[in-house]
Amino acid sequence: MSPTIIVEKEKLLPLSYQNEPSKPRSLLKIAAHYTVLLVSICTLFYFLGFLQFPELTYPGEDTLNEADLCPQPPALTPSVHADLWQDLGKTYQTDEFVTRATNWLGGAVQVPTQSYDKMGPIDEDERWKAFVPFHEYLLVSFPQVHATLSLAKVNTYGLVYEWTGSDTSLKPLLLAGHQDVVPVNPDTVDEWTHPPFSGHYDGKDLWGRGSSDDKNGLIGILSTIEVLLEKGFKPNRSVVLAFGFDEEASGLYGARSIAGYLLETYGTDSFAMLVDEGGDYMEEYGSVIATVGTAEKGYFDVRVEVESPGGHSSVPPEHTTIGILASLVAHIEKHPYEAHLGRGTPMYQKALCLAAHAPDISLSLRKYLKKAPKSDKALRHAEKILFEDRLFKALVQTTQAVDLIQGGVKTNALPESAWAVVNHRIATDSSVSAVQEHDSELLFGLAQEFNLSFSAFGKQISEDGAPSYGKLALNDAFGASLAPAPITPTGDAAAFQLLAGTVKATYDAHRGLVGSDGVVVSPGHMSGNTDTRYYWQLTPHIFRYNHHFTGKTSLFKDIHTVNEFIEVDAYIEMLKFFTTLILNADESTSL
Ligand SMILES: [Zn+2]
Repeated sequence: MSPTIIVEKEKLLPLSYQNEPSKPRSLLKIAAHYTVLLVSICTLFYFLGFLQFPELTYPGEDTLNEADLCPQPPALTPSVHADLWQDLGKTYQTDEFVTRATNWLGGAVQVPTQSYDKMGPIDEDERWKAFVPFHEYLLVSFPQVHATLSLAKVNTYGLVYEWTGSDTSLKPLLLAGHQDVVPVNPDTVDEWTHPPFSGHYDGKDLWGRGSSDDKNGLIGILSTIEVLLEKGFKPNRSVVLAFGFDEEASGLYGARSIAGYLLETYGTDSFAMLVDEGGDYMEEYGSVIATVGTAEKGYFDVRVEVESPGGHSSVPPEHTTIGILASLVAHIEKHPYEAHLGRGTPMYQKALCLAAHAPDISLSLRKYLKKAPKSDKALRHAEKILFEDRLFKALVQTTQAVDLIQGGVKTNALPESAWAVVNHRIATDSSVSAVQEHDSELLFGLAQEFNLSFSAFGKQISEDGAPSYGKLALNDAFGASLAPAPITPTGDAAAFQLLAGTVKATYDAHRGLVGSDGVVVSPGHMSGNTDTRYYWQLTPHIFRYNHHFTGKTSLFKDIHTVNEFIEVDAYIEMLKFFTTLILNADESTSL
């Protein structure tokens, strides 16, 4: 908080009574003394967060009311299939069904389907064969699904199912998930309370790799459809399932091939909406918030390479290539990307939803956010407070992390080259080219200082052919850059309304409530990417969300590490979510 603001706030307090004529002089002194004391105490309390000063007003500013900051659509329950929906809701709560559901999920966890970075082609790398028993498991476990839905195997292990609806003029609903799991580090097996591929159910939680990322999603979808088929449900709107097999290794063989297949088979913008893994719902600042991933950050690895003459290290130059690279790295770290909460970004919308619905955020933050839609100054103040949360800030800004470095081969030889790789996660309202420009500008001065010829991303920056001591080159390290995802339409968009209404209906139904408004649905995004990175052309309505209730802590805590688990009650609620989603989408006339 800037000093100017504190002064403005103090001005709102009664600093002096000196203009009051009726008081004797000595009393005025005492009053002034106590006033100063009061101001000091209030200021101290303000910083401790116990007291909120009156609202700041800037001329011409409007405060938005809470409903406008983060409008909430009503719960949406199926009407044509209301009886079926009610009936399934009851079935899912029975002990018999819970046993069935945990067996389905536990059995899937027991088939290890680990995907590793840098795997070879499908027909060369033996490790891909891990998916054969998994497919056999699915075939045996979901007989109705396999008897009714068509199945295409894409690039051998990618699974695309189609449940053909009676009205093929309707755009299908696309549900996605991934079969693979993050490898279990063999050194950590002893740290698991239950073995990582046990799928052990202890009566409350189900344990094992993939139980919450993403076999819960994939098996949740298949279990839901198996049950709907058993009940005789026949869809009007087709439902297509896309299950990749190397999401944890960037989807190069799985989702990338599946995207090609789907585009070829169904065409561009051919799906009503896409729901994949991603956001969860949890308690945040005194409210329950379902954060639906409506964007993803971009990704860019920049290789910074320095070359300079070699030679014997007994006659060294002032700076070796390693020394120069070290200066460049230090300079990069000293200049992080500026963080700004752009209006229209999902994290801005999330902040407004917190302002509108989360009782435990500070009053000052709420006040700034309520003005933020119309006041840049208020938005800057809100940012300052929000960015004290490191995770929030990292989600908003383009980040940089120097993750790899190499140089030199021998202690008596001057290194001829040295390089580092800087990993960037690009802000949702930025671009790969903005990162290229930023990094080039940032290092330009040092390239001159060290007299290096400078090229960046295929362009010669320094004067071509000018004499130089060495070279500095910036390049796309692995040719795997990714632009930030297009932002999914929210607000009044029919698909968002349907998804948000489904979240609310599921939440209420699982707790026996009606119209509780107990869960707030907010746009937002995660820190990483999903298979949806390949699916942008299939529909603008991409939602990374599978209604996994993670309580008070973030999902990030338990996935990709030891003791991954899912609470079975939360898993049952996921099945209700998929059921409600399929039925709502089937009945919708606005998608
Ligand atoms: Zn995942």
